[in-house]
Amino acid sequence: MRIAPISNYRYSNNNTVPRKRDYSYSSKPKADCTFTARPINYNYLYRKSLALHNAYILRTNPLQVEQYFARMGIPAKFDEGTEYGRKFVAYGVFNAFEIFRQLHFKPPVSIKLIDFRKFNDPTILDATGIATPAQFAVPQNKIYPPRSVFFNSFAMNKPYFINGQWKPYCWENFFEIMEYARANNLISTEHFLSPFVHEFAHTLHYDKIYSKFGSPFPHPEYAYNPKTNDLLAKLNLNLSGNNPYVSHFITKNITDNISQYGTTNLFETFAEGFTKDILNNINLFTLRLERYPFDGTNNNQTIREILYETFEGLVGDGTGQI
Ligand SMILES: [Zn+2]
Repeated sequence: MRIAPISNYRYSNNNTVPRKRDYSYSSKPKADCTFTARPINYNYLYRKSLALHNAYILRTNPLQVEQYFARMGIPAKFDEGTEYGRKFVAYGVFNAFEIFRQLHFKPPVSIKLIDFRKFNDPTILDATGIATPAQFAVPQNKIYPPRSVFFNSFAMNKPYFINGQWKPYCWENFFEIMEYARANNLISTEHFLSPFVHEFAHTLHYDKIYSKFGSPFPHPEYAYNPKTNDLLAKLNLNLSGNNPYVSHFITKNITDNISQYGTTNLFETFAEGFTKDILNNINLFTLRLERYPFDGTNNNQTIREILYETFEGLVGDGTGQI
């Protein structure tokens, strides 16, 4: 383990020539994808694509997807919930992973479909997925490393009021649930890969912060820096209250251009904005990127800068938007 010097987070550009910022989240090579025009009939194509994806979901063998990830060194388990739910999550995770490979982005270190009642935490009971910023113990189960992702098996089958009727909140109804959530601006895209890309985005973000500033806990991949907890606290502050780093004007911009969920805190702003960028730029039938997603055409400049500063941990440094 390396011990990093304790540093503050002030982003200093003293004595440097102002440079053009790269808003791409990565200095790695650009995505392996071709550049084509964005479909103007997106909604029509999306609905058409669902029939195809439903057929693929039904043909997905969760065990094969687990084995695929095992060969990649990533433990993955799709062994809880209904058969359709296991297939759905295996298919969703596989495709999110392939998109991350196109971008040369680090994937999560562990993936698990699980009954969220096992977490004994009522605040995340209904969540579709979670990503763990630190080591995470599942009671009576095991300890998962930081940057693990979990998806909910929705075993409690909770009813959900949608389009005028009560329906179980489950993977079987997930296409409809997502369209409803997007129509009410709860989430940034109705695409069914959204929860998978969203949780992957959190793990990418944690990796970025810990690589850059050190992790607040000892970890073999990162330098150790307890002060990173201060930055995590800033990123975890709710945006709708009196957030000292995010103005009401910016919160409204995030609500209008990303989603309501994106105003939960800056971690969610990033994950929601990132997911929108990705899923607005995939081929709806192959589920692979067709264009480089972070070129600034999907969001206004203020949002681009906020996503960049959030990803880079440049919060409350007296420069930029936040
Ligand atoms: Zn999230």
